[in-house]
Amino acid sequence: MRVLLVEDDPMIGKAVQQGLRQDGYAVDWLSDGDAAGTALATTPYDLLLLDIGLPGRSGLDLLAGLRRSSSRLPVLLITARDAVADRIRGLDGGADDYVVKPFDLDELSARIRAVLRRHSGRAGGEIVVGDLCMNPATHELTQDGRPVALSAREFALLRVLLENPGKPLSRARLEESLYGWGEEIESNAVEVHIHSLRRKLGAERIRNIRGVGYLVPGSR
Ligand code: CA
Repeated sequence: MRVLLVEDDPMIGKAVQQGLRQDGYAVDWLSDGDAAGTALATTPYDLLLLDIGLPGRSGLDLLAGLRRSSSRLPVLLITARDAVADRIRGLDGGADDYVVKPFDLDELSARIRAVLRRHSGRAGGEIVVGDLCMNPATHELTQDGRPVALSAREFALLRVLLENPGKPLSRARLEESLYGWGEEIESNAVEVHIHSLRRKLGAERIRNIRGVGYLVPGSR
């Protein structure tokens, strides 16, 4: 899952980027509203974490632009303690949720999971596809009830596939979901992780459609 973080406070930005990376998200961090507008127009993100007071375009302006363009990108606002009016404008303007500074990183992670869950139409915390059951909060995966140990990248890659059951995702799209800007991409990373996932889960659980991409079949 790839997240765009827009926050001009360097301490908060750095802490959030590090925390979310440890959680397995690919995180691009910008501190300027105009640059964020460009990034949103050119990069496929799964979530936007948006401060309101920014140099350049404000967070609320960015949000308004996104929703005007019919983007359904989940948006979580980062707001100041006393900025009640901004929070109301943000929620009415299409934000999915907000956190108030200073916030706890574990709470932010839980709110992100909740927003992504609602966005994908799930009510419960687990992602269930066929015999696979993934818990993004605990980073656990079971197959037919048996735990399967995955590396952080394998987990992140499988999560994107399970969030899109039956839908082929290109290698480029999978790579973009795994790596933020400036992160070194190992060569053939996607193929290597897919190979390992197939070895652990059974080759038929992840299909390769030649020239199109990879998919996890929906129900069997
Ligand atoms: Ca700010």
